[in-house]
Amino acid sequence: MGCIIGITASNDILSGESFPGSRRQIMNMEYGEALLLAGAVPLVLVQTKDPVVIEAQMALIDGLLLTGGVDVAPLFYGEEPHAQLGWVDADRDAYEFSLLRQAEELQKPVFGICRGIQVINVAFGGSLYQDLSQVENCQLQHRQKASRDSVSHSVDIIKGTYLAKLFGEKSMVNSFHHQAIKKIAPGFKVSAFSPDGIVEGIEREGAHFVLGVQWHPEHLVQKHANMLGLFRSFIKKSSRKCES
Ligand code: MN
Repeated sequence: MGCIIGITASNDILSGESFPGSRRQIMNMEYGEALLLAGAVPLVLVQTKDPVVIEAQMALIDGLLLTGGVDVAPLFYGEEPHAQLGWVDADRDAYEFSLLRQAEELQKPVFGICRGIQVINVAFGGSLYQDLSQVENCQLQHRQKASRDSVSHSVDIIKGTYLAKLFGEKSMVNSFHHQAIKKIAPGFKVSAFSPDGIVEGIEREGAHFVLGVQWHPEHLVQKHANMLGLFRSFIKKSSRKCES
């Protein structure tokens, strides 16, 4: 049996004609498909507040994928809501922080995408720009007006980082975010910057694999081997857990 990767989902309430008011947890299929393509067994995690269930969920999975979604509630990094803050979901935030605490305890690998990199940073004590308009000299289009499977801006990869092993010095990425990391969490280092100075990648220092990217590699795995490689290396790290 392959490595089991737990995937977090977004909360949604349906409107419109079919099933209005239905509460749903949803996951974009590209996350599941990228993990399948990379050889994992993906498992969507049902959100709960029960610490016993959260512990059991983390015990079951070999690695944790934190997916994209709404903004992290600024109260978790001690700020009032900025006028340009988007929709927030404090229950999802709290759930994902609990998962991260368990992952830390069990030293299980974590991969964060878009919102995921931001959740990781806040969970470990960092902060965010609530909107890129708060960042001086942020000039690039970080919400690209192009298909999700196309790349738009470049990133410079920091030498000696885990990302550098996969991407070398530079890569093209897609971009669908209006927030970014402000203060990086203690124990982490920046592994990628956009040319206008936005943090696009972070990773944990030391042996516990915790890595986040601000772009969406799950949409790029079909056309870009290094993006699939990112999922493969996350799964390889997680395999060490499921094989031992
Ligand atoms: Mn970007």
